[in-house]
Amino acid sequence: MPQSADKVLDHAPLFREPEYKEMLENKRVRYECGHPEHLVTEIGDWTKSWDYREKNLAREALTINPAKACQPLGAVFAAQGYEGTMPFVHGSQGCVAYFRSHLSRHFKEPSSAVSSSMTEDAAVFGGLANMIEGLSNTKALYNPAMIAVSTTCMAEVIGDDLNSFIRQSREKGSVPEDYNVPFAHTPSFVGSHVDGYDNMQKGILTNFWEGQERVPGEGINIIPGFDGYAVANNRELKRMMGLMGVSTTLLGDVSDVYDTPSDGEFRMFAGGTGLEETRAALNARATLSMQEYCSPKTLDYVAGKGQEVAAFHYPMGVQATDELLMKISALTGKPVPDALKLERGRLIDAMADSQAYLHGKSVAVFGDPDFVYAMARFLLEVGAEPKHCLATNGGKAWAEKMEALFATSPFGTGCNVWAGKDLWHLRSIMATEPVELLVGSSYGKYLSRDLGVPLVRLTFPIFDRHHHHRFPAWGYQGGLNVLVKLLDVIFDKLDSDSDTAGVTDISFDLTR
Ligand code: SF4
Repeated sequence: MPQSADKVLDHAPLFREPEYKEMLENKRVRYECGHPEHLVTEIGDWTKSWDYREKNLAREALTINPAKACQPLGAVFAAQGYEGTMPFVHGSQGCVAYFRSHLSRHFKEPSSAVSSSMTEDAAVFGGLANMIEGLSNTKALYNPAMIAVSTTCMAEVIGDDLNSFIRQSREKGSVPEDYNVPFAHTPSFVGSHVDGYDNMQKGILTNFWEGQERVPGEGINIIPGFDGYAVANNRELKRMMGLMGVSTTLLGDVSDVYDTPSDGEFRMFAGGTGLEETRAALNARATLSMQEYCSPKTLDYVAGKGQEVAAFHYPMGVQATDELLMKISALTGKPVPDALKLERGRLIDAMADSQAYLHGKSVAVFGDPDFVYAMARFLLEVGAEPKHCLATNGGKAWAEKMEALFATSPFGTGCNVWAGKDLWHLRSIMATEPVELLVGSSYGKYLSRDLGVPLVRLTFPIFDRHHHHRFPAWGYQGGLNVLVKLLDVIFDKLDSDSDTAGVTDISFDLTR
């Protein structure tokens, strides 16, 4: 046996043992009816050609490996950012298992969420009974301060009405009349997780603000948006606001939710924006969204309540951080402090130190629209060329913004935006118009291997590396982290390309 108490192997070496090799080969020959190797190679090569690219880009009726997730994932993430809140997804159980595992595998933390566990009978008769029982059980078992309800495809297809269902649940005593149960319809067959995030944020603010009189104050609300780096980014935002002396409420702050200590105590609920603080946030002077595409409906709602609103695109790098700080300074009348100016200067100094290694580097970027915009902007700042920028959940308006961004820099010449395309499209694009670096999530790993392009993991989800989200990408400090990540991968590649003694190592460099 390859695996025994005396010889415990991890899965990678385990499947290289002779027994497994033989078993897998038998399976291939006897059951898989595979094509001959030479044909597989031939077709594989053809799928990297211009001929195949044209066919692939003309594809309309099929999506392959989209760089996006479905709406309720974003809704669960948004809800988890509030104090004592249990996300409740009305629909099938498997969906919630996926949301929880996706978030847990990225953050390496538990991710609490429950499901109304709809099955065939609910699909026929509606999910009201599941809602009534589910809300009651959730309250009894976990005693959350708030239950935030979203929906899966199943509930949406049969047309379950959350407002009516929650009202009826209250009438039947499932949860008390005055208990907080915000909700958002999050149909997965339209939009993506960024829309689900937006819908849930709006649902939560509506729950606390509707029917309240606004007394305008001086505070600033910040909506961080769906962000795989939220743990460190939210903390960085709070640090910067603290340095500026601005009273800030982060609406949906997951930084402590996804970063609990190991001290022997399991915290089902930790951190999150206080519910009373959320209620009081109606009185803020302004609400700023860090990610425009995560918040259009929420900001419309907030503006309707009389607050000033503004949206940014993932404030990463020099110009993007400048814009954010100057906006906050204009809103509050507080100057940007010297401490932040120093950090700005240090980031610029670091960028200048490494410029020779970044200048003219061609890069493909994929991810959510705000992240891709921010990453492209940062690459232009350091003199690199964001040659292919792809967001499966990016639309026409986003594509126009990207084009306008490219036009601001000579490094943007020849750069392309790919709105609504998936990672199989990106494979064709990168195979025919190669780049030197790929920036995206762990899902870029196969592209990286297949095409021999190093991957910089810098968004959500990152499953195959640990703890990146504990270091910020936002602000000047975050810009420094992003710069180092890009450079590390570039230097690793330079080193691995010069590892043959006397052949490629002639100018191998120990100190750069
Ligand atoms: S797309 Fe629909 S079925 Fe799939 S996980 Fe999302 S909600 Fe569930």
